[in-house]
Amino acid sequence: FFRPLEKIAAVIETYPRGIAGFRRYLELLETEAEIADAPDAIPAPVLKGNVVFEDVSFGYDSTRPVLRGISLEVKAGETVAFVGPSGAGKTTLLALVPRFYEPDGGRISIDGLPLDAMTLDSLRGQIGIVSQDVFLFGTTLRENIAYGRLGASDDEIMAAAAKAQLGPLIAGLPEGLDTLVGERGVMLSGGQKQRVAIARAFLKNPPILILDEATSALDRETEREIQAALEALSAGRTTLVIAHRLGTIRNADRIVVMEDGQLREAGDHHGLISQGGLYARLAS
Ligand code: ATP
Repeated sequence: FFRPLEKIAAVIETYPRGIAGFRRYLELLETEAEIADAPDAIPAPVLKGNVVFEDVSFGYDSTRPVLRGISLEVKAGETVAFVGPSGAGKTTLLALVPRFYEPDGGRISIDGLPLDAMTLDSLRGQIGIVSQDVFLFGTTLRENIAYGRLGASDDEIMAAAAKAQLGPLIAGLPEGLDTLVGERGVMLSGGQKQRVAIARAFLKNPPILILDEATSALDRETEREIQAALEALSAGRTTLVIAHRLGTIRNADRIVVMEDGQLREAGDHHGLISQGGLYARLAS
């Protein structure tokens, strides 16, 4: 019963951004039908999270390449922030890691294993995704968090909620974890929904994380809390962040600057600023 649901929600969790997001979601469901386990795919071992992109190219249609010759190694445990103008291909590149799409050329591997050598379920089971818009079910807070790992105990759910800084919210609700969040979570604020997504990821405890940082306006206090929760979440995990704000970028071990489907620059904040290139222009 849960497996198809899990698949759909893994997809929904990734991309919904209003109507455009919904369209993408439908596209992804179609894509899903095409991406299947290779006949000789094996269940992935417990991954450390060394992610290697080798000369990766991709286009949603054959006439327009969206990623062109991307090569990059992300070490296990490293946090890499992807920045660049809108449409540069950041989201697309990271969508290839859980195999929502297949590259047209080149290859991606984790710990030396090509992505398609592993079964989809075992690969996606080791990738946590926290995106801008979280898909919530019209049920209780508990079930929404537990969705990160079906079958988690109440203690585990509470621990994950606390790490995601949901403790005060839950304590203030008369029905605590049993509170209904409303259809698609309408009773929760944007910041609270993001914290539910973070709690799910804590519960899932994956070696690899993909964060699509929120662009929506949050008040400063909330933003600081979410930032702190995300930092705690990314500790000890390979973290790939689509970053929109300088704060997050500064915390990254490395910044990768993309433009027009290509990697243009990589380095740390100060190094890139002093290079005086695209990053320096974006940051000014
Ligand atoms: P942003 O910062 O605005 O999210 P981005 O760098 O993440 O941008 P992508 O979302 O990866 O960029 O988009 C790269 C290109 O691919 C854009 O030209 C975009 O219009 C196109 N694109 C993205 N998703 C799809 C899709 N599902 N079908 C067709 N084209 C798409």
